Amino acid sequence: MATSPLCVPPPQGLLRPLAVPERLLLGPGPSNVPPRILAAGSQQLLGHMHPEVLQVMDEIKMGIQYAFQTQNRLTLAISGTGHCAMEAALLNLLEHGDTVLVAVNGIWGQRAADITRRLGANVHELLKPPGEYFTLWDIEEGLARHKPSVFFITHGESSTGVLQPLEGLGELCHRHGCLLLVDAVASLGGAPIFMDQQEIDVLYSGSQKVLNTPPGSAPISFSEGAREKMLRRKTKPLSFYLDMGCLGNYWGCDGEPRRYHHTAPINSFFSLREGLAMLAELGLETSWERHRANCAKLCQGLCDLGLELFVKEEKVRLPTVTTVRVPDGYNWKDIVAFLMDNHAIEIAGGLGPSVGQVLRIGLMGCNSTSSNVDRVLSALQDALRCCQHSRL
Ligand code: PMP
Repeated sequence: MATSPLCVPPPQGLLRPLAVPERLLLGPGPSNVPPRILAAGSQQLLGHMHPEVLQVMDEIKMGIQYAFQTQNRLTLAISGTGHCAMEAALLNLLEHGDTVLVAVNGIWGQRAADITRRLGANVHELLKPPGEYFTLWDIEEGLARHKPSVFFITHGESSTGVLQPLEGLGELCHRHGCLLLVDAVASLGGAPIFMDQQEIDVLYSGSQKVLNTPPGSAPISFSEGAREKMLRRKTKPLSFYLDMGCLGNYWGCDGEPRRYHHTAPINSFFSLREGLAMLAELGLETSWERHRANCAKLCQGLCDLGLELFVKEEKVRLPTVTTVRVPDGYNWKDIVAFLMDNHAIEIAGGLGPSVGQVLRIGLMGCNSTSSNVDRVLSALQDALRCCQHSRL
């Protein structure tokens, strides 16, 4: 018998069937995917230039324009997750030597500052402790001092549970000759945002939060002001894959014949189309109200359990992700593991600057229900009873 030329055998793990347990995903994302969106993602493939796929992309674009409340023609979905949209926004807007002001009150500002530094821009950070938000006054001072061409801020700070007020911010930035870039990965569909009325220049989000769509596609939109800054570039954007000129053409945003740029993740687009369709059917206002009401019920229930909410002011609590202080004498890891092992519920500990300080509970899209609030509260009550032995 001839000896096999293969020195790596087929992996045993792959010879067993895929096993995916059922879990209620009440962390800061991803959230559970409803059957309609799962079914859309498992449709047979089509070619990435087929008219039916281009039609789906047009529908996604209209869905994003609705979700963002914008008429911007440069509106599309990035083939990647929220980070990819963050990179796309920054690397298309910025050139080496540009000055940027980044609002940092959690991990997302830190990440934006990191990406911006890699691009060779001059980065200034406007700092607030985790759990706090920025006032217009804080921001105006930063704009006047640093004179940036772009200001970055996170609408839904999912590492701390803060909802950043955006009223008046676009106008303020424009008065200072600066473009406003907003991260709405964790907040879109769960809290009001009005891209055009609030004069936001670049807005991006993700698919796996309120849209209940698998991760891998990220809505993004650019105002005319942002487009003009990109047109004035002296150098090409550092990434070909994320070049908004090429992507805008593939997405039919420039009025020219659509050209192949990359093979789109077609099934992700089918799913995203359905996620956006479900949001359009429900209506933004109903979705915002549902998230507000369930978050309020959760916060009340957490206080009734004797827990302390991390974000003090109710009006700046993020309706999609609630943060609660890790109670004294408990190890957050024990609580998170207890919920997973005994209740098949995912919640999360802190992230970045909030690590060790908080537990994070997400109620996003179809997961934002009164019965899920009851489920997670009763599981937490159980955990508080059973994890007491883990006193630090
Ligand atoms: N920004 C915010 C506010 C987020 O919550 C997240 C995801 N947790 C991201 C950006 C990054 O998104 P992704 O993990 O999809 O890359």
